Amino acid sequence: MTIDRRSLLKASLGGLAGLVSVPLLGATSPRLSSQLLAGKVTLISGAPGNVLALATDEGVVLVDSGAADHARALKSSLGSAKVPVLFNTHYHADQTGGNALFGAAGAAIHAHVITRQWLATDYYVPAEDHWVKALPAKALPTVTFRQKGEMKAGAERIEYGYLLEAHTRGDIYVFFRDSNVLAAGDVASPQLDPVLDWYAGGWLGGRVDAMDDLLALANDETRIVPAYGPVMTRAQLQAERDMMSRLYDRTTLLTTQGRSARDMLDAGVMKEVSRTFQDPYRFLYDVSKGHWAHYTNFGGNIV
Ligand SMILES: [Zn+2]
Repeated sequence: MTIDRRSLLKASLGGLAGLVSVPLLGATSPRLSSQLLAGKVTLISGAPGNVLALATDEGVVLVDSGAADHARALKSSLGSAKVPVLFNTHYHADQTGGNALFGAAGAAIHAHVITRQWLATDYYVPAEDHWVKALPAKALPTVTFRQKGEMKAGAERIEYGYLLEAHTRGDIYVFFRDSNVLAAGDVASPQLDPVLDWYAGGWLGGRVDAMDDLLALANDETRIVPAYGPVMTRAQLQAERDMMSRLYDRTTLLTTQGRSARDMLDAGVMKEVSRTFQDPYRFLYDVSKGHWAHYTNFGGNIV
């Protein structure tokens, strides 16, 4: 059976309801799938994370550009549509790997000013003990902001804003107000272990506050889209936020007592949460590092 894959996804972007699976052949044969969420907002999954695409008469507004080895597949999945606007929820390579391709094709790349700064400079990744080169100029965000902003794309009102120190130091949300779809980036993580990129300024206290900011934007009908994993309801986000808040209370107390990540694990901190973490020690290590970097924020007296 022959399927015109491009027109299938294009049709979805144009407003067909339902789930379509769109295998796309590229260098690594990444497999993207798409799902119309609401209005003209489509979720494209498998890039390897989630990408959102709003279809307008002027082209597609994208939230995140996927990893570099998925960029061509992502672009071709949009057919001939132009991408005048691309948002980066944060600096990580699996959200900005397609920036060069879309930037060269004329996209204005919107991001928090700190995300641009991070991408414009070589940076170190301590967990992998290696350096990552700065992105080329055409891949860098071209429109930056510090707090929040809004724009109109077709009939859709788009609001975006800062999520302070939630996962990195440059996280943002992008809220398609009329379609009621909220992109949360890696600030919500319903499936994978939540990641706190402490070296880039993310920490658990920031994450809890940022999740409160997201909850304040959402209502019971909002489709909340994390960088990885399934679309979330507000209630599911609330549950994850409450889990993070409990972990914050437990781990800040243990940190003020001078306890390490290993001590926290041994004290059973992770047994108190309702879900299973793939690597609980790794999570607590990052929690600990973040706490030490932010101890003045929770009144700790670390010696
Ligand atoms: Zn990330």
